[in-house]
Amino acid sequence: IFSGPTTTTQSTPAGPYSTFQPHPNIRNIYSINMKFAAASALILAISAGNVSAFSAAPSSARVSRSSSSSALRSTAATKTYTFTKSEEIFAEAKTLMPGGVSSPVRAFKSVGGNPIVFDRVKGAYAWDVDGNKFIDYVGTWGPAILGHADDDVLDAVKKTMDKGTSFGAPCALENELAKAVIAAVPSVEMVRFTNSGTEACMGMIRLCRAYTGREKVIKFEGCYHGHADAFLVQAGSGVATLGLPDSPGVPSSATKATLCAEYNNLAQVKAIFEENKDEIAAVILEPVVGNSGFIKPDKEFLQGLRDLCTEHGAVCVFDEVMTGFRVAYGGAQSYFGVTPDLTTMGKVIGGGLPVGAYGGKKEIMEMVAPAGPMYQAGTLSGNPLAMTAGIETLKKLSADGVYEELERKSKKLVDGIVATANKHGLPISGGYAGGMFGWFFVEGPVKTFSQAAKSDSARFGKWHRMMLERGVYLAPSMYEAGFMSLAHTDEDIDRTIAIADEVMSQL
Ligand code: PMP
Repeated sequence: IFSGPTTTTQSTPAGPYSTFQPHPNIRNIYSINMKFAAASALILAISAGNVSAFSAAPSSARVSRSSSSSALRSTAATKTYTFTKSEEIFAEAKTLMPGGVSSPVRAFKSVGGNPIVFDRVKGAYAWDVDGNKFIDYVGTWGPAILGHADDDVLDAVKKTMDKGTSFGAPCALENELAKAVIAAVPSVEMVRFTNSGTEACMGMIRLCRAYTGREKVIKFEGCYHGHADAFLVQAGSGVATLGLPDSPGVPSSATKATLCAEYNNLAQVKAIFEENKDEIAAVILEPVVGNSGFIKPDKEFLQGLRDLCTEHGAVCVFDEVMTGFRVAYGGAQSYFGVTPDLTTMGKVIGGGLPVGAYGGKKEIMEMVAPAGPMYQAGTLSGNPLAMTAGIETLKKLSADGVYEELERKSKKLVDGIVATANKHGLPISGGYAGGMFGWFFVEGPVKTFSQAAKSDSARFGKWHRMMLERGVYLAPSMYEAGFMSLAHTDEDIDRTIAIADEVMSQL
């Protein structure tokens, strides 16, 4: 099924390719100078827009640029939140942990201001330590597809917990989750569980190399596959031109076999195969990109990659850590009807607990130790609590109509945001697939990372903070997708669009 907004095929000429460019947020992390420059630009942008990030006072109603929005503008402006306790806790956190966080994007570096500190989550909502309630479209970065803290998942986890928290030995729950994943995901005949998406991708790339006896892999600009060395290198003119930094600590030997192509540019991948005959172990991609913002593939691009891999004896890998059980029950591969050889998963399959997985054709998976010689292991892998949360989550997701409902709501939100931006004369380009969506503050269509990077980042930062202050929690980076859950109501979406209307009148 290729539903959602129609996309136009872009014919970008084949050109020189570069070695891997890291995830945009990783670039931010390591770019100390750029980081400060961006933060200062944002502060300037925010003060220019007269937005007080932590103001206790309700923002005053403003005159809209568009006369057609005057009806909405005549109602009282939404009261804005204050974040006093969050500020205190985060100030202390910065003295205890690098940047005050356990994972970088949470620190709000790319949008400016400090993050808010969560206290609890339920359904479509999150509450912070100041008692503010948010409609949450981050959903703990994807796993919370049923909504946060689903009662059935919690009950099941509590029951398993009575038996212990970790076995470090085979448990029947692993079989149960494995059977559910194998039944759902077209490419998966056998699966190995890990504790995170990063681990799954590390195992997957080693497996591709072990299976083919080749070292080079092709990945795509703007696609993120976790923080393993092989995926975290940059070089080449694109990166140099943009002045983007490298990640210190990654040895060049770990990355010299990582080749990077432009997303949705099949001609470029063909050229790389031609120049590296019998040397490419795998082509690895996000089959819908969520790590450069939301970018949909052309179906011909996915099918073309599949065919090129078959032709050249390379392993075709879909990294479905984000898209698996998110855009469709069987992942992007069932959404688009293109089946890879290997698939990586994470997020949703752990139902909010730490799980990753890689799986695929039996013939390839039987290379994995102890069935075969390719070594990969994990003390907590197959953890019973995590398996239970995954099993319960997949059970609920396998019901009829779930993904149609998720996509209906994603569409409603994206259509509403795009229409509102149009009303206010702001450039915008949006898209969605199942329970995943996104928009860029740039004229579309956006088919590549470099097109995504043309978005107005200062406007995004201001937008993000103003939505946050009014109770809408969006991903704190323009390079992240948004996530819809079954718990979001039409009222939540209507309210989000109404708040967006108010905010966009001031952007
Ligand atoms: N692959 C993709 C496509 C991802 O989106 C992510 C995380 N956002 C990862 C891999 C890494 O997963 P994790 O953060 O669980 O290590």
